[in-house]
Amino acid sequence: MTRLFERIREAASLTDEETAMLAEVRNLANGRFAERAVDLDESEMFPWENIRDLNALELNRMFIPAEYGGIGLSYMCYLLTVKEISRACASTGIIWATNYHASAPVIEFGGTNLKDRVLPRMAEGGIAALAITEESGGSDATSMRTRFTDHGDQVEVDGSKVFITSGDVADFIVVFGKWLGLGDTSAAISAVVIEKATAGLTVTGKEQKLGHRASSTVSLRFDHCFVPRANLLGAPGQGMEVLFAALNRSRPSVAAQALGIAEAAFEEACSYANTRFAFGQPLIGFQATQIALADLASRLALTERWLVHVAGLVDSGLQDLVTEASILKLAAADLAMDTADRALQLHGGYGYVRGERVERLFRDAKLTQIWEGTNEIQRLQIARAFRSPKGERSLQW
Ligand SMILES: Cc1cc2nc3c(=O)[nH]c(=O)nc-3n(C[C@H](O)[C@H](O)[C@H](O)COP(=O)(O)OP(=O)(O)OC[C@H]3O[C@@H](n4cnc5c(N)ncnc54)[C@H](O)[C@@H]3O)c2cc1C
Repeated sequence: MTRLFERIREAASLTDEETAMLAEVRNLANGRFAERAVDLDESEMFPWENIRDLNALELNRMFIPAEYGGIGLSYMCYLLTVKEISRACASTGIIWATNYHASAPVIEFGGTNLKDRVLPRMAEGGIAALAITEESGGSDATSMRTRFTDHGDQVEVDGSKVFITSGDVADFIVVFGKWLGLGDTSAAISAVVIEKATAGLTVTGKEQKLGHRASSTVSLRFDHCFVPRANLLGAPGQGMEVLFAALNRSRPSVAAQALGIAEAAFEEACSYANTRFAFGQPLIGFQATQIALADLASRLALTERWLVHVAGLVDSGLQDLVTEASILKLAAADLAMDTADRALQLHGGYGYVRGERVERLFRDAKLTQIWEGTNEIQRLQIARAFRSPKGERSLQW
């Protein structure tokens, strides 16, 4: 077997501590998570046992700074961990990845008082959610209607959100809305943290989904929900900055999730192609199969290498990486869908049956093209980098 993917992993500069932690995660994922994945998918039960296992490895501490009880490992290590978890159980992958998506804005834009209250809980193994999407539109985030009203040392939150991952089990939720008095444009968008059991916060519905069935996706309502002003992230009207900083970190993480699913599907495709016989030879003996696998292997290798590149940029402190992050999310999500589709097709009728890993991977892959900005929105974002505002012929790339 080729060392192609192993060599790409080796190119990711990890410390000894990170390499050891990743090996533990891989063991856990390939063992207990893989064993539980079928039942979790079938039952749609929240994967509490997996969460306890992640917490036994103290994985949340990875992305929390040391002064709040964390160990602050690299973003590279975080992405590779998301990939390993998602290979085995995409539902657990999305939940753990979302813990980071919601913690990062608090770390970057929260005041000391808020960090003191929220981050140690996360380091101990809490669950967090990030709430942007509303019924009025997910892609068009500026159409959001949730309102924040200034009451001096308190902020009142009124409105609703849809499709919020872990919204029903989260210890805290980062909520985006418009600051009353700042108008109705993106300049009014702000972000606050709402903690669990805050009066006025209710879960109004839970989705039944095609894939990622063990992760909960819920609708939320905020009715005169009062939070301390210290829960405001940045200043009123700074929400778009908070949002883009969050997306620059969460989109590569969705790509890592997609790559985990793509790797698993590729593994299944290769294994089946080598062992299933038709017309007197294994499926891999047919050139059509060889070409399909070669195309997928090439895309997997290049996308994995790009993930290592983007993670390196984040770890170097670069903030302005909207284009790089969108390219990664787009490429990885399309690859996950194409690989899962190809792997299912190779399995023939057996791939279409509940309980087969490729069937679950096919359903899980689809979400990566939709959430955290659809792939159409990623394409628009990428194209924006190449538009000249004044119509000049040459651009500096
Ligand atoms: C399982 C799941 C988990 C989720 N978790 C979260 C979460 O934790 N937090 C959160 O805030 N949100 C979450 N979401 C919401 C998700 O991010 C949105 O569903 C997504 O951004 C798309 O928004 P929408 O569903 O309103 O679709 P719309 O925005 O209505 O888009 C519909 C279609 O139109 C296309 N489209 C829209 N605008 C354009 C355009 N300008 N050009 C071309 N095509 C366009 C889209 O690509 C899409 O294909 C989750 C969704 C799901 C399904």
